[in-house]
Amino acid sequence: MAKVKRTQAATRKRAVAVLERLRQAYPDARCTLDYTNPLELLVATILAAQCTDARVNEVTKPLFKQYRTAADYADAPQDELEQAVVTCGFYRNKARNIRKACGALVARFGGTVPETMEELLELDGVGRKTANVLLGECAQAAGVVVDTHCGRVARRLGLTRQTDPVKVEQDLMKVWPQEAWTIFSHSLVFHGRAVCQARSPRCSACCVKDLCPFPDTAEGKRIAR
Ligand code: SF4
Repeated sequence: MAKVKRTQAATRKRAVAVLERLRQAYPDARCTLDYTNPLELLVATILAAQCTDARVNEVTKPLFKQYRTAADYADAPQDELEQAVVTCGFYRNKARNIRKACGALVARFGGTVPETMEELLELDGVGRKTANVLLGECAQAAGVVVDTHCGRVARRLGLTRQTDPVKVEQDLMKVWPQEAWTIFSHSLVFHGRAVCQARSPRCSACCVKDLCPFPDTAEGKRIAR
C-alpha cells in the first residue's frame, strides 16, 4: 500500500474504512463467551484470563447451573469452586477472585453487577479489559476491549504503537468512533483469530491489506504470506 499517513485525522479515517471492511467480513463478530446475565459474564471474563473462550464456555455450562447468584459464589467453599474451574488454569486465583468479587457484589451492590468503570475496577479479578467487556455487553456503554488479538492487529494496522493494553485502549479511543468501540474490538479479535494470526498473518488473503502498513514493514516481509 502507499505510505500510511500517521496524522490522527488520517488514522481515524483509515480506522473507519477498516471497520467497514471487517463488519462485512465478520457480520457475526461478538463476545464469544456464553452468558445470560451480567453476573455470568463477570464470572466468565474472570475465568477467560489466559484461557480460550471455548474452554471457558465448557466450564461455565455446568457452573452456571450450580451457582446462580452472587451469594452462591461468595458462600462457596474455596476448594469446591477451584475444582469447578480447574481446567481454566490459574484456578486457585480465579476461584478466589470470583468469591471475593461476588462477596463485594453482595456487600456493596445488592448482589448485582455495577455499571460504571470505577465500581467495576473495585472488584477482585476485574481489570480494564473485563470492565470494558461488561460495560460494552451489559451496560450499553461502549468500551474498547484490548485482548492479545485486538492489540496485535491494531499495532499491525498502525492504529497504535503501544504494547501496554491500557495505552493501546487510550490510542484506540482516540481514533475509533465511540459508538463503534465495542464492535470494533470484537471485529479485530475475529480478524486476529481468522487471518491476522500472531505467527503467520495471511496478508495476501486479508480484506484490509490495502489499508494496512504491516506487509511493507521488514517484519511483514519476513513473516507474511
Ligand atoms: S494485511 Fe496482514 S498484518 Fe495487516 S491486518 Fe491483514 S493479515 Fe494483518
